Amino acid sequence: MAAKNYRLMRCRDCGFPRLVSFAVKWNDNGTISQRMRKDFRVVILNHGFIDSLFSGIEAKLGLSIEHIAFEAQRNASKSVFESVVAHVPGMDLWRKFSTFKRLGVEQFNKVACITGQCNSTTLEYVPGVYGIARLKNPFHTGMMAANVVGAFEFLEGFPFEYTLEEEERDTYIIRIRRSERPEFAERMELDFAPLLPGHHTFERCPRCRVPLAIASQLKWMENDGIILDTRTATRVMMLDGYMVSAVFRELARELGDEIYEMMVDAQREWTVDHVGQLGLMESIGPLDSRALEKAYRDYLEGLALFGQGNPVEFSMSDRTIKVTVENPYEAHVLAGTLQGLYEALEKAPGRVTWDEPAPQVARYTVEPAGEPSGEGAGAGG
Ligand SMILES: [Zn+2]
Repeated sequence: MAAKNYRLMRCRDCGFPRLVSFAVKWNDNGTISQRMRKDFRVVILNHGFIDSLFSGIEAKLGLSIEHIAFEAQRNASKSVFESVVAHVPGMDLWRKFSTFKRLGVEQFNKVACITGQCNSTTLEYVPGVYGIARLKNPFHTGMMAANVVGAFEFLEGFPFEYTLEEEERDTYIIRIRRSERPEFAERMELDFAPLLPGHHTFERCPRCRVPLAIASQLKWMENDGIILDTRTATRVMMLDGYMVSAVFRELARELGDEIYEMMVDAQREWTVDHVGQLGLMESIGPLDSRALEKAYRDYLEGLALFGQGNPVEFSMSDRTIKVTVENPYEAHVLAGTLQGLYEALEKAPGRVTWDEPAPQVARYTVEPAGEPSGEGAGAGG
C-alpha cells in the first residue's frame, strides 16, 4: 500500500495550509496554542534540536534517556486527544464504537502529517486488539512511537505496547497491541501553567491571520509528512509544548539537577550551529554594533514565531546582553539558546545566568565567559 496522499488547501493570499491555521493560533504572547483548547500549548521545534538534545545528554550521561522521553511524549499525545474530547459532548460514549475508533485512527494519521511528524498509513487495525501502520519519515522513531501508543491508549482506554521495524530507509512498520503492564505513574503529568498575556505583534496575512514570516519560512510537504524550514533546508515539527519539560523534570528527579546544566550545554552547542546555518553572523564586522543588534533581534523574533516565548526586553552593552523572555517554552533550553546565540555572534564563549522574578518570566544575562558575575545569580532557574 502506498503512503496516503493528503492535499492541504492553501490560503489564497499567503499560501499557508488552511487546516493548520484552523487548528492552531499564533498568539501575541510568544506562544502558539490549539484553537480547541486555548491553554494547550503547541511549539515548533527544529528537528536537530530534539536529536542533539537527547543524544548530547545521553553521550554525557553515558546512559539512554529514551524510556523517560517515551513516557513523557506518550502522556502528551494522550492529552492532545483528551483535550479535543473534553469539548465534544457524548465523546466518551462514541469511543466505545469501532467505527469511531477507525475514524480516530485516520484523524491521527492526518494530525501526524500536518504537524510534520511523519506520513503514517494504517495497514491493519482491529479495534481493541492490535494495529499495524507504516510510518514514513518519522521525525524521531522513539518519539513517534510514543505518539502512536499514546493515541491508541486514548482511543481504547488501556495500555499498549509496540514494536518498530525498519522496512526501508526512513520507513518503519509499527505494530501495537494491548499490554499487560500497569498504567505509568502519575508523576509524568504535564504542567499546564497559566500564561502571561502579551503585545508581540506580527505582520499577519489579512486572510488567514498567520504571521507572514511563518508562511514564507515554512513549507508544508504534507505527502512526505515533513515541514521544511526553507531558510536552512532543515526540518521542523509542531509538537505539544510540554514533552521536553516533562522529560527533564523526570530526569532531574532521578539523576539530580546536574541534568539541567547538560541541557543548557547541549542547547548551546546546537544553537551555535543553527545561527551558522541561518547565516546571521556573516554580515557582522568587528565593530558593527548595529548589525550585531539586528542579528540578535532577528533570532529572538524567531522564538516568538515558533511559539517558544515572548522576548519583551533586549539590551546590549560592554559585550553583555540582557534578555527577558515571558512564557519561555523551557527556561533552561532558552538559557542554552541565548548562550549559543551569544557565542556565535560575538565569536567568543559566553556565560549565562538568569533568574525568574515572576512565574513565566525569565531574565537572562550573557557576558564574556570567565568574568565574574555582578549579581552572583545562580544558573539554576
Ligand atoms: Zn493567509
